[in-house]
Amino acid sequence: MSNEHAADTGEAIVARSRAGLACERSLFPALASQLVYLDAAASTLVPQSVLDAVSSVYTEGLTGVHRGVHARASSATLKFEAARSQIAYACGARADEVVIGRGTTESLNMLSHGLAATRLGPGDEVLASELDHHANIVSWQLVAAKYGARVILTPVDADGVLAQDAVLARINDRTKIVALPHVANTTGAVLDARPIAKAAHRKRAVLVLDGAQAFRTLEISVRELECDAYVFGAHKAYGPNGVGVLVGSDALLSELPPMQGGGHMVHAVHSHAPPELAKVPACHEAGTPNLEGVLGFAAAIAYLASARRRGALAHERNLTAELERGLRSLPFVRVLGAPAQRVGIVSFAIGAVHAHDAATFLDERCIAVRPGLMCAQPFFERLGVRDALRVSLSTHSQQTELDRLFSALVSLHEFFS
Ligand code: PLP
Repeated sequence: MSNEHAADTGEAIVARSRAGLACERSLFPALASQLVYLDAAASTLVPQSVLDAVSSVYTEGLTGVHRGVHARASSATLKFEAARSQIAYACGARADEVVIGRGTTESLNMLSHGLAATRLGPGDEVLASELDHHANIVSWQLVAAKYGARVILTPVDADGVLAQDAVLARINDRTKIVALPHVANTTGAVLDARPIAKAAHRKRAVLVLDGAQAFRTLEISVRELECDAYVFGAHKAYGPNGVGVLVGSDALLSELPPMQGGGHMVHAVHSHAPPELAKVPACHEAGTPNLEGVLGFAAAIAYLASARRRGALAHERNLTAELERGLRSLPFVRVLGAPAQRVGIVSFAIGAVHAHDAATFLDERCIAVRPGLMCAQPFFERLGVRDALRVSLSTHSQQTELDRLFSALVSLHEFFS
């Protein structure tokens, strides 16, 4: 083990975790109040450094990414491309493997539209799961039908767990695309992706991983995951809204027909001949990009790296176990899903109390959680649950906040009994 790794274990983490706790919350302007924010899986709050990066675009007058030669346009282009390199570095990819778009949903739709056209025919299958977010189910369902293909959802078991064997058993000669969540938005379950990638590749299928919930909590290396495409967005990783990323190999990005046409994605346009497309990744980036969002995301990635050094991510993982333990100790709570490994997210049902009533009750006590079906209806249907509450942690989450949640849930149970 290297010294650097040794420094990331045991007492060092605990010490840094304590130090991190002291400062983490103060970095987030929205936490100046008593707010207990437990809804990171919907969107994270943003640290001041991200706000500064976003506003710098306007205060410095940066305009015209990839379009101008005046000083501010050149600076905008340089900063945009530097941010792309930072995003690439953060997931172990090369800059030219990173397509920057408007959200995880858009990235998944780019893939489903493109890969359906190049890979799907009658009788073919796209393999997803009941643990997927609607964005990674519906985007495939909408296009598969057009090509006579079908989307198979691997069921979760009675414990809400997506068993690896169940996925592997469904990869067959008809499977052309496997699309799964790296971290599930309902249970925080972490997928062991490599065996699935290997099985998919043996059948010449591609593996798409939805990293929307993984990017803020795990260290990502697309090479180690052996996936063909990896997608995520900024607003669930301490960045601004409106930025999505699609990471793909040169082969995959070159295979994809662009989903949108417009400026920047073409090399030449003619009156009487088809357009000549720009090289990847530019051919997938039609239109003026969201410069402030992308620079904000680069600042968020820098924040995540420093939070990791302070031990805040290790602390968040430890707190996940405390969250699950605390919820399971409440007799009126049914925790949904029991994955072997989970990060930052636990969903649960509370008997007859409607989730919206419960979330409103908690909100009146300044505790923000997510009620409903979390855009994951097949998961809740399988477990026979009408609706649920989801608690999701951030780098700034603290045990005292969980204690406030647990005691508010006890009051809620008494109030509605
Ligand atoms: N995939 C997962 C696992 C998600 O949790 C979400 C959002 O909650 C999405 C995809 C869609 O992300 P967005 O709404 O940012 O496009």
